Amino acid sequence: MTMNPRPNPPTRSALPSAIVSATNLVKMYGSGDTLVCALDDVSVNFAAGTFTAIMGPSGSGKSTLMHCLAGLDRPTAGSVVVGNTRLENLDDNNLTKLRRDEIGFIFQSFNLLPTHTAKENILLPLKLAGRRADKALLEQLVTSLSLTRRMNHLPSQMSGGEQQRVAVARALISQPKVIFADEPTGALDSRNSTRLLEYLREASSVRGQTIIMVTHDATAAAFADRALVLADGHIIDDIADPARHLTAATVRTWDTRTPAAAPPLVATPTSGLPLPTGHETATTQPYAPRRWTGNATSDDAQPAARMNGAN
Ligand code: ADP
Repeated sequence: MTMNPRPNPPTRSALPSAIVSATNLVKMYGSGDTLVCALDDVSVNFAAGTFTAIMGPSGSGKSTLMHCLAGLDRPTAGSVVVGNTRLENLDDNNLTKLRRDEIGFIFQSFNLLPTHTAKENILLPLKLAGRRADKALLEQLVTSLSLTRRMNHLPSQMSGGEQQRVAVARALISQPKVIFADEPTGALDSRNSTRLLEYLREASSVRGQTIIMVTHDATAAAFADRALVLADGHIIDDIADPARHLTAATVRTWDTRTPAAAPPLVATPTSGLPLPTGHETATTQPYAPRRWTGNATSDDAQPAARMNGAN
């Protein structure tokens, strides 16, 4: 089966300091008339301790890229390395273990367990991994995220900002090398957004954790060291110091870009399975991805938004 009819560019080998590295990633959804190429030969490295924003118009492939990098979804072709581990070599159990041990996730929808208190939610990843909590780190996280007086509250008894901070503490308690955040400020007011983004920046600059954050917001991206811009499943720009070089006006031009050259919108995926949160069907997108014109068929139409229980 031909996965990618386009000739591949020379493969960029991972930089020595790259902690996450993708090479020639292709991700296709659907089949036949509804085949969509969400990632079209993407190669990119993320250096350890950096904070990167992944940006681009709706439907450009941001979430798909994040899911493939984080081992939440398997690419159709290409390879992802996290630390020293090549993800395609892992079976599902070992992939789950890697996500649990090396990766933290922060989602827009928090994904807290409603019947667990804030403290139980925060400690859940450690419990699942059979690890003990580092009491000093727990104390530090809870204090710096201003959650001390909320530890025995259920999610329903907390504000959105508090719930998001619990989700951040849960992502950080296992001290993951890499933290993936999908529109983490989407449900927050500006004060809580700023607080969260400052915290993520500190996690990278002070604690050396690598942050990869999907966002459509130039203000959020300004906290990052780098902004990668996607369109039609390609990286079209790689902006250093987005606080200085990326404006809200530039971001608006991506969202209003006329899809004049784009093919007709593809139909709703035929897999019949629900799309994960935040995934829109192509029919509602202002900016359609290219239809796949190769002769490939895809049997992996569904990214299971797998979250290893806690994340
Ligand atoms: P973004 O995060 O930039 O909005 P996505 O990565 O969610 O973009 O989606 C990229 C393209 O892939 C879109 O056209 C989207 O409709 C399509 N897509 C995403 N997930 C699925 C799926 N499970 N089945 C079919 N198509 C999908």
